[in-house]
Amino acid sequence: MDLKTLHKRHVLTPWVAQGGHEAPVVVRGEGVWLYDREGRRYLDLSAGLVAVNLGHAHPKLVRAIAEQAARLAYAAPGLFHDGRALLGKALSDLAPWPEGGRVFFTPSGTEANEDALKFVRHLTGRPKVLAAYRSFHGATHASASLTGENRRWPAEPGVPGVVHFFAPYPYRSPFFTEDPKEEAWRALEHLERVLLHEDPQRVAAIFLEPVVGSNGVIVYPEGYLEGVRALCDRHGILLVFDEVMTGFGRVGAAFAAERFRVVPDLITFAKGVTSAYVPLGGVLVREGLARFFDEHPLPTGHTYSGHPLAVAAGLAALEAYREEGIFARVRSLEGFFREALASLVAQHPLVGEVRGLGAFYALELVKDRKSKEPLSPWHAPPSPPMRALLRALLGEGVYLMAKHNVLLVAPPLTIREEEFLEGVERLSRALWQVE
Ligand code: PLP
Repeated sequence: MDLKTLHKRHVLTPWVAQGGHEAPVVVRGEGVWLYDREGRRYLDLSAGLVAVNLGHAHPKLVRAIAEQAARLAYAAPGLFHDGRALLGKALSDLAPWPEGGRVFFTPSGTEANEDALKFVRHLTGRPKVLAAYRSFHGATHASASLTGENRRWPAEPGVPGVVHFFAPYPYRSPFFTEDPKEEAWRALEHLERVLLHEDPQRVAAIFLEPVVGSNGVIVYPEGYLEGVRALCDRHGILLVFDEVMTGFGRVGAAFAAERFRVVPDLITFAKGVTSAYVPLGGVLVREGLARFFDEHPLPTGHTYSGHPLAVAAGLAALEAYREEGIFARVRSLEGFFREALASLVAQHPLVGEVRGLGAFYALELVKDRKSKEPLSPWHAPPSPPMRALLRALLGEGVYLMAKHNVLLVAPPLTIREEEFLEGVERLSRALWQVE
């Protein structure tokens, strides 16, 4: 039996994994490239699932993980461990709070949001939580309930107390306006109405991706995040930024909170913290709030909270980001990335819009650019042209993440300029094949 058939037979994939049967069997990665069994290479244009920020086989990470495995591969979370303490301090230093913060380590981003949901209810004694439609916060029951995509809840309802609101989406405004300022204002008005309807005194927190990630790299118009912060302040509501995708250089800063100068109360993170070499996530809690747990403990934790291999990878990744000046590099290359991708809008009728910032971009695909008619309806499975495009991309040696009508271009942050241009050229060739 060949390997793909074996995989299909014994690895449960409830969702048709991207690429389907045509996806390559990858055996090795180096820098921004993945290699299959036959030695063909694929440009990893979304850094896996927007995660391998430092590229594949980074020597510093490989060494740190191997050394830690030889020294101590596991320590129960109840024990003190040097790596955990050091990574906790390093992350607190990166957080946007002058007072610092504390980290609760989780095995993944999903669990970070799952735990953050418990934390905000515990911290405030309030039962409700608000999250945006068209967000993504994870795939377990509670994190999927936060996620504003109804198809993720096999049997309604999701967890009780989670309420959704519409956030701005300038390209396809839910508020029927093309003016970004007006969009921000109308979205805030809508959010306030939802809050008043739910009774703000019963709302513990608002969860938000500061830039919507897998659902289309939506950058909020100026003033929106500030407005949400102000609403939270007015009603004693906590603001949680889900920075699982935006953290660790993706938007040219340690966190999007720093880039947008909007300070949340909690930050959830994962992916880039270890450059995805070992699973690790966490919740950063502002010190003033974290103290509450000293007097009011909340029994929670995971076997793999702060796993020694993960924290070793985290420390090595943070060192690499610093030594290689990655966050500043992304800021300086932002114009170059955007311009290179913008050329695709001019050339290809299928590309309705290119948007994003830092090293985080989306190409939204349309049937008709003038009417902005989407390539397929929201929530529908990949349309035949999208499937054909993904096939063409594999044929051109590009692997990237696609969702709904959107291609995510979010390469490893170490990508060289010529590699990025080559990626855009391959993308362009693939688009020609389906137009
Ligand atoms: N939150 C956001 C914004 C994400 O993009 C993701 C994953 O893509 C998650 C949470 C879930 O994280 P994980 O896959 O590490 O569980």
